[in-house]
Amino acid sequence: MEELVVRAARDLVNSRYAIALTGAGISTESRIPDFRGPSGIWTKDPEAERRAYLAYQSLLEDPKRWWEESLSGPRPRFIEDLEKAMPNPGHYALAELETMGILKSVLTQNVDGLHEKAGSKNVLEYHGSMFKLRCISCGSRFAQDEFDLEKLRVKDKLPPRCPKCTGVIKSDGVFFGEPIPSDVSHLSLEEAWKCDLMLICGTSAVVYPFAELPRVARQRRTETEGKTETGIYMVEKIPAVTIIEVNAEPTPLTEERISDYLIRGKTGEILPKIVEEVKKIRQ
Ligand SMILES: [Zn+2]
Repeated sequence: MEELVVRAARDLVNSRYAIALTGAGISTESRIPDFRGPSGIWTKDPEAERRAYLAYQSLLEDPKRWWEESLSGPRPRFIEDLEKAMPNPGHYALAELETMGILKSVLTQNVDGLHEKAGSKNVLEYHGSMFKLRCISCGSRFAQDEFDLEKLRVKDKLPPRCPKCTGVIKSDGVFFGEPIPSDVSHLSLEEAWKCDLMLICGTSAVVYPFAELPRVARQRRTETEGKTETGIYMVEKIPAVTIIEVNAEPTPLTEERISDYLIRGKTGEILPKIVEEVKKIRQ
């Protein structure tokens, strides 16, 4: 493992445009429950899962009613858990790599806002954020406190409307059946095209379309020219990206050889070690 940590640090230092992809694995270390694990939110409450599947359709059909229902009753436990959650050393390590100028962006599937809390600046929240609101027409995002939802409810003015285009406002978190917001999906693909190093942390990348990103990067080749010993001119195509996985277990990315190597363990332990090695190399 130590050897691979040193290798990852070297690869990062030598990279021109490194990006990170993160998923649930980095959040569960901040004690954020997942949805489908043994003690996941939906494993314990299948009715909540059923409602989640219907949410997008119900919102489109009757946004006023959707908002009234979601504002009535107690706030879901997991939203309160998310608000209290704090970043872990894995989040801070990625923020530090960005400050050092090595990591150019973080593409995350998580909706908990922990990368931003840890100080990462260039974060693409692929599945949105539980702490933001978004217009379903023009895609503008807003902080939650830009709308007084309780006042709108009392005055019978729900749903909240976009100040720019009067479209319906929803939570920024992407619902089942809802397309990935086009700005985020476009920028993420661009990052996957641009990077020469992809650090995959705490995700098996099996949920599409996010799962496309490492696969798109893997297919890229750069051409290098050279002469063989017999003087014949050659064009060689070599992989354009180094893909490093930091995951607890091997994943389809490991098995399909999409990643170059897997550093097995907790992101909260391994990422800080990589940062330490990067510092040693740069001294
Ligand atoms: Zn709008």
